[in-house]
Amino acid sequence: MRLLVVEDESRLAAALQRGLQAEGFAVDVAATGPAGLDAARHGGYDAMILDVMLPGLSGYEVVRRLRAEEHWLPVLMLSAKDGEYDQADGLDCGADDYLTKPFSYVVLLARLRALLRRGAPERPTVLAVGDLTLDPARRRVTRADAEVDLTAREFALLDYLMRRPGEVVSKTELLDHVWDAGMDTAPNVVEVYVGYLRRKIGRERLETVRGAGYRLAT
Ligand code: CA
Repeated sequence: MRLLVVEDESRLAAALQRGLQAEGFAVDVAATGPAGLDAARHGGYDAMILDVMLPGLSGYEVVRRLRAEEHWLPVLMLSAKDGEYDQADGLDCGADDYLTKPFSYVVLLARLRALLRRGAPERPTVLAVGDLTLDPARRRVTRADAEVDLTAREFALLDYLMRRPGEVVSKTELLDHVWDAGMDTAPNVVEVYVGYLRRKIGRERLETVRGAGYRLAT
């Protein structure tokens, strides 16, 4: 099994390389986002351990680009602390698992083995509702075949709604699934983002069901 470790803290990178080699893995190390992306594109790795905070390109962006180019190697992300990990970014970028630093090496090894057993993640299905399509892998949305440009949060909101077409989805449910639990959100944040989304996908596509929530028209 060949692993790619992308980590700019050289002592941690060297410790991971030594430890994983001792477990019988072949291990290559890259120290920047662009170097990691390049190696992952060409290297034929069985899995990648990827830091979030990297020079050049963040770990999120590295996974996003790999998935957009249809590279499906399993990715275990390392984030420095809870605060820097944004749920919308993390869930949407296409990583398979996360560990928060500082982590125990034993836990890292167990998670890595679990990922390797699962093998390459499956390409997520393109969602389609009416004339809207959303491709989670390419992070691309179209409306009547024209590309719609969404922010990460708008994308996460539409992704959630498109998995429940025709159903009434409450504000609380949207807050729980699209925003971080610890995030300091304004009370009307859902209304605000529904407004942004309506401007981009068409007002009539997203109905308000008074007192209950929102419904994506089918
Ligand atoms: Ca780092």
